[in-house]
Amino acid sequence: MKCARCGAVLNGVPATDYERRKLPKSSKRPERMFGGFLCPRCLREVLKDVVRAAVPK
Ligand SMILES: [Zn+2]
Repeated sequence: MKCARCGAVLNGVPATDYERRKLPKSSKRPERMFGGFLCPRCLREVLKDVVRAAVPK
């Protein structure tokens, strides 16, 4: 599994469908918004943008 933004390999996410199938549903991916989708660095950047967009100034 790679970050959708920068392509960095994500930790805590099974790399293959086979590995995913072995795990119970709850442990498929980190319990976090965008978990298993973006790396922590991009996640922070994206959340910053989301907050900025949601709060008019
Ligand atoms: Zn990234």
